[in-house]
This record gives sequence, structure tokens and C-alpha cells, in this order.
Amino acid sequence: MKFAKRLTRLPPYLFVQIDALKEQVIKEGRDVIDMGVGDPDEPTPRFIIEAMVKALKDAGNHQYPTNKGLAVFREAIARWTRSRFGVSLDPGSEILPLIGSKEGIAHLPLAFVNPGDRVLIPDPGYPPYRTGTILAGGIPAAVPLLARNKFLPDLESLSRKRVKKAKLFFLNYPNNPTAAVADLKFFRELVRFALRNRVPICHDAAYSEIAFDRLKVPSFLQVPGAKEVGIEFHSLSKTFNMTGWRVGWVCGNREMIGALAKVKSNIDSGVFQATQMAGILALQHPGGHLTRMLRIYQSRRDLIVQALRGAGWPLEPPKATFYLWAPIPRGRTSKEVAALLLREGGIVATPGVGFGSHGEGYVRFSLSVPTPRLREAARRIQRLSIWPRPSSD
Ligand SMILES: *Cc1c(COP(=O)(O)O)cnc(C)c1O
Repeated sequence: MKFAKRLTRLPPYLFVQIDALKEQVIKEGRDVIDMGVGDPDEPTPRFIIEAMVKALKDAGNHQYPTNKGLAVFREAIARWTRSRFGVSLDPGSEILPLIGSKEGIAHLPLAFVNPGDRVLIPDPGYPPYRTGTILAGGIPAAVPLLARNKFLPDLESLSRKRVKKAKLFFLNYPNNPTAAVADLKFFRELVRFALRNRVPICHDAAYSEIAFDRLKVPSFLQVPGAKEVGIEFHSLSKTFNMTGWRVGWVCGNREMIGALAKVKSNIDSGVFQATQMAGILALQHPGGHLTRMLRIYQSRRDLIVQALRGAGWPLEPPKATFYLWAPIPRGRTSKEVAALLLREGGIVATPGVGFGSHGEGYVRFSLSVPTPRLREAARRIQRLSIWPRPSSD
């Protein structure tokens, strides 16, 4: 079989090696706690499921959805965006439902990238920014996210030439995998940067609602002028434990959204209408469910951070997302440490290098694991020696 070049240019799937090792450890009869994948373990809230059941029984929802999505769903998104961020959006032209935000992220470069064009992607970063670029024939240009810059891109240091040639700039805050957050001041700089360099911004806000200690993270679109230079991706996946449902949206710049809509109208036929109807209910009543989920994630975060610190890991509790981005000792690779965690502790963590070369030096732990299992993980972490232990006196 002869495959297209673009297929061979795709990097190997992030979890292949660690999956193989996991299989092996399980075959040996050992108990494995998977802190590798970021996928909420709690079920979708019942009121959303009930809305879905009702929508399923309506035959009007059984046919092809429209590409633009239901007007009532787009209006619900506009109301939510207004109340959550104080941002006004035109439901007719500034909002487009997606079959999960990953779908829109991966398809967007098809609308902007010619063969050989560059796209700025965060490194470490969520893999579809890179692979979507490659599938469109483009070249991913890594923008390093470094601890000394709080995992924000150093906009000043990006060379003019590199940026001027870029067709898109992907960013993501709260960030996967580093759990970093961006404030309005950074987003203001970003908008100025985009205007000056004429590079369209694609901000991924999939974790906008997963933030702790009462922190309300801002939307990039809160900055005046943001709509002139970019779009923002949102998702119901992480907010409402709906990863399997496949529903999200993109909002902001109408020309960019029109371009993506044109691509998508030739590839898919939109989001199942029953899912959109359930999504409306979710957006109308986010409060109670979110308060409960955030309490759960926050207590899990505190549990694991305490265990890691006790075992000598230098780590600050993250302000957002359900990830811990944990530094490993110098001289060890993230793959080695992930293998060690698995072999000696029965814990799956993701090697940082899987998110890009600047992810080396870290492993990512996900907190989307039932709390009793995390308690067991905390006990095991304390028995492992990866970092030198803090002296007890
Ligand atoms: C989980 C995640 C998404 C959401 O994906 P969906 O396709 O909406 O389920 C988007 N961006 C990042 C960085 C993620 O981690």
C-alpha cells in the first residue's frame, strides 16, 4: 500500500509507547492507575441527559442538521458568552457549532494554509494544532512555552520574519499540558501583536471553566479589537463531562468563521441536532454542576500535589485545568520517568516530550481519575524516589 506523504509526515500517536508498556504491566497482573488521558471520569449531569432523551424522541432532529447549526443553539451560545465574559456575538455570523472543538481546530488550516506555509503552534501543545497544519500541507513553527515565562509565549522574542510569514497562530489558555493561565494583560498584548504582524489568532479556550480558588479566567475576545484579529474555540467536553458527545463551537472573527464553515460544509454535515438541543440546556444551567466538579478537581489536585511534594517534586498547585505539569530531575528523560512511574508505581503519566520538544523535562498527570483511585496513586507516589526526598527535620 502506498500512502500519501502527508500521512508519513504525521508524528506517531502520542500514547503508542506508553500504551504498549501499560499493556505489558497489566499482563503481569499488576494494578494500573491511568493518569495519562484527560477525559472527565464523572458522568454527564442528569439534566443534560434528560434534555437529550427528550430531543431524541423528536423526529425533527433525526435528519441532517444544517451546517450552520441550529439558530437556537447559536443564540444560547451568544447568551452564555455575554453573561460569562461580557462579550457580544452575532449568532448569525460570529458563532459556528463544531463536532467537538478538535474537529474545527484540525480543519481550520485547510482554509488558510498553502503547501509550505508556516503556522505558529505552542510547544508543548495539544497535538491537533501541529497535525492539522501538517494535513493541510503546512509547516508547524514551534513557539516555546517556558517555565521562566510562566508558559506564555515570549511575543517580543518571536522574530518578525517568522511571524510575518505565519498564516495562523494557535494558543491555548488555560493551557494543556502546562496548566498555565493567561490574564487580560497578556491577551491585550496578543491583540496588539496580531494587529502589528497581521497574523490571525486562534485561541483554544476548552478549559475556560475549569479554574480553581474562584478564579474566573478571561476570554481572549474580551479585549477590544480581538474580533478583528481572531477566533476562540470552546467546548462542552470538559465543562460538562461531555467528551463523548462531540460538541463545541468557534466564535469571533466572521471572515475566519465563514472560511472554516466553507471547508466544513464539504466535509461534514454538522452536529446532531439532539446534541445541540441538550447543549442549550447545559449552557442555561452551568452553575450547580460546575461548582460540584470544581470542588472535586480541586480536592484531587491538592491530594496529588501534596503527595508529589512529599516525595520531593518541586511543584506549585495549578490554578486551572485538571492537569499537573510536573518537572523531572535533570539528566532524566520524560519517557524514562513515565516508564519508571508505570513499572515501579503502576501509574500512567504522559511524557512531556509527547507534546513537543519543549515538553521535555516534565511529565503530565491527569486528575480525571476517580478520587479513591487517586488516593491510592498518592500512596504509591510517596513510595517512589524520582526526586531526592526533602529532609524531614
Ligand atoms: C480536550 C481539549 C479540547 C476539546 O476537545 P473536543 O474536541 O471539544 O472534545 C480542545 N483543546 C484542548 C487543548 C483540549 O485539551
